Amino acid sequence: MELYEYNLHELTEKLKSKEISPSELFESCKKRIDACEENIHAFITHTEDFAKAQLNKELTGIFAGVPTVLKDNLCTKGIRTTAASKILGNWRPPYDATAWKDLREAGAVLMGKVNMDEFAMGNTCGNSAFGPTHNPNDISRVPGGSSGGSAAAVSAGYVPFALGSDTGGSIRQPASYCGVYGLKPTYGMVSRYGLISYGSSLDQIGPFARTVRDLQLVMSVISNYDPMDSSCFREKAHDFTHNENPSIKGKKIALVKEFQGFTLDAPIADAMNKIKKILEDEGAIITEVSLPVVARYAVACYYALAMSEAHTNLERYDGVRLGYTVKDAAGIKEMFERVRSYGFGPEVKSRIIAGTCLTEPTRCEEYYVAATKVRTLIAQEFSRAFGETDFILQPVTPSMPPKIGEADDDAMKGYEADLYTLPVNLAGLPGLSFFTGYADKLPVGLQLIGPRWSDPELLHAGVIIERHTGSPKIANGGVK
Ligand code: GLN
Repeated sequence: MELYEYNLHELTEKLKSKEISPSELFESCKKRIDACEENIHAFITHTEDFAKAQLNKELTGIFAGVPTVLKDNLCTKGIRTTAASKILGNWRPPYDATAWKDLREAGAVLMGKVNMDEFAMGNTCGNSAFGPTHNPNDISRVPGGSSGGSAAAVSAGYVPFALGSDTGGSIRQPASYCGVYGLKPTYGMVSRYGLISYGSSLDQIGPFARTVRDLQLVMSVISNYDPMDSSCFREKAHDFTHNENPSIKGKKIALVKEFQGFTLDAPIADAMNKIKKILEDEGAIITEVSLPVVARYAVACYYALAMSEAHTNLERYDGVRLGYTVKDAAGIKEMFERVRSYGFGPEVKSRIIAGTCLTEPTRCEEYYVAATKVRTLIAQEFSRAFGETDFILQPVTPSMPPKIGEADDDAMKGYEADLYTLPVNLAGLPGLSFFTGYADKLPVGLQLIGPRWSDPELLHAGVIIERHTGSPKIANGGVK
């Protein structure tokens, strides 16, 4: 077995006992990247020199010597950070995102910054200014998005774990498409400081890995109170310790009544039945909750809010402060126009325009303010539901990963496909995207949702499911 094939917790043991060295592991992962990257295109920026400089120092901490990659909307001091947009040019942030600082201090070694939909807007990784990433399980298909590069890198065995961000599904959906585990933590569980904002009230950083235990390890490092993020939790630290024998005996796990009539691709419907049975065998009680507002209004509510927040957040890219600029504009207006016309891609432009309309003074009450009210109803609906059940089990997506290019024509269809992920962000809840098995060589994922701050319990439930399904294999990465 090659070193890159081991999971995170196995590698931390091997490194700690000095059975392997950080340089050996680095070389193994680098070899794997060199073998597959031409097929997959997960990277925007390779940071080998930075990694080597890290390896030349004495690394300490629980991840000492473990390679990782970061979605390219996480700021890395002195290292180009693009959010997959041309508008950031060769911007090198003057500071590290807190989540990366935590990993760096725990000894993680940075292999690179990876691909995503521009400013995290999309669910195929096809909205990147750097071209699409391919799914390592079938390179003719999308890896999902927006954190497609992070999911692909973990699935192909480049690194044992990665960070992404999830505003409406961007960790859970690519995790499911690529066949890895992904956690969207409770809003406020991980500091957003240094995460390039898309929809600030929805954005959350979280991990990808090939076992649930590995997610627990990463969460134990990145879930800290951070005074630099005012929405970060302030209570005592959460306990992500791995438990070999968790139990869900007597716990209630609900299906959403309103989702029952919705069409699912056969492998996803089959996976729902399989996981229901596993949970029942483990002593859980399968029930039903009703989420009528979620089912009917969540997609519209999410896109109204996300676009409104995006148009405000992206106002700062004007060619003055940072990133791409033009030197020969006739005046400030021409400069803004030229910088933004060239710098933003079509999806980002259309969302900025939509966000401008939704918040424009004469329409604001009718759209933006109305959406904030619907959001409150959605949060209340979930809170009622979690009075009746411990977890909710549901799909991540209605369909299996499409072929590259296939999904790009119909934006509305893409938005609607986020129905199962985005309500979780509207209510600030944690959501675990977990592997259930393969159908025709493609991985099939599902989602477990819990009440706010139930992230540790959600991962315990994930461990139980993984015991039955087995962990995913490393994808072949298009290697013949
Ligand atoms: N697909 C959703 C969107 O485009 C979610 C993206 C995300 O979670 N960043 O807004």
